[in-house]
Amino acid sequence: MISHSRPSLEQEELEAVAQVLRSGQVAQGPAVARFERAMAAYLGRRGAVAVSSGTVALELALRGLGVKAGDEVIMPSYVCAALWLATTRAGGEPRLVDIQPDTFNLDPDLVAKAITPRTRAILVPHLFGLPADLSRLKTLGVPLVEDCAQTLGAAVQGTRVGTAGTITICSFYATKLLCTGEGGMLLADDEEMLEQARAWREYDQRPVLVPGALNYKMTDLQAAMGVRQLERLPTFLARRLSLAASYDKMLAGVNAIRPTAPHQWTHVYYRYVLRIPSLKSRKNALAELLTRLERRGVQCRRPVFQSLHRYLGLESFPQSDVAHDTALSIPIYPSLSEDDAARVTQALTEEVT
Ligand SMILES: *Cc1c(COP(=O)(O)O)cnc(C)c1O
Repeated sequence: MISHSRPSLEQEELEAVAQVLRSGQVAQGPAVARFERAMAAYLGRRGAVAVSSGTVALELALRGLGVKAGDEVIMPSYVCAALWLATTRAGGEPRLVDIQPDTFNLDPDLVAKAITPRTRAILVPHLFGLPADLSRLKTLGVPLVEDCAQTLGAAVQGTRVGTAGTITICSFYATKLLCTGEGGMLLADDEEMLEQARAWREYDQRPVLVPGALNYKMTDLQAAMGVRQLERLPTFLARRLSLAASYDKMLAGVNAIRPTAPHQWTHVYYRYVLRIPSLKSRKNALAELLTRLERRGVQCRRPVFQSLHRYLGLESFPQSDVAHDTALSIPIYPSLSEDDAARVTQALTEEVT
């Protein structure tokens, strides 16, 4: 079976973790500080706060922006549940908007229309490795939280994702571009905001009880992996780009729309997502296709399990619905071989009609 995703863990990570184990200092310590400095340098941010997950990073980001009961937070419907859950935990009210059909990212015009006097933040995920369009969003007068859980190293006209929002968050969950098993990070330039997040991350050794603090820490075991993974990120991205180029060629004859990036935008192919319009005509067509591909030894996925508006029973998100019914994510990760990619292609050629 060719799995849909797989982390790239090698001798480097094994040695880094072994070194932490031997040191006896396994909880949050010097490796976490090193990982934070390395990520902040990579994204050109003043500081970073490592936490236990991307979802926690989102929650702390929103709390750091002062989101409280009654405040609205704009986000796309076509995204993982983490954004909705983090927002409601912070006390905010999620305001869902639809996406652009060709990029799967937030539609800036719909965001502009959704803004009210109570809007406190916009959550901007860069989905599947393609940057969202920030040019308009930056002019709306509302703080942006860039969600880079799926996209690192991509750029728009030379500007890297994760460098423009008031806060940027990352995830290092097992399947993401960088893997620490579980883990997340919040990055920003505002020292006070960073200090506040650090104060919420842990409870011990404090002169006062900090309301809202809990234990959200990352361990040195995870951070040591993270440092190695970040060193290897350029190699990972080069491999993903090369596989995407192979798929672009090999899949030219398949009845599907391949992912593209606008001129001067880079795509880092965290996911290689095909749009297959013919699936729209029949209910459950995508679920059946997934089963048939699995029988051929190729594990594919819906790139988003379910749109938020579907969980909530809301209507009028047509592009999110089309994406749910027609978007197919196929295997792509650094350790995928050209032979595997050819087998994926073969299965798609036979099953997508
Ligand atoms: C994975 C992911 C998250 C949540 O990260 P976790 O580390 O799993 O909590 C948030 N946003 C996006 C876009 C993600 O892909």
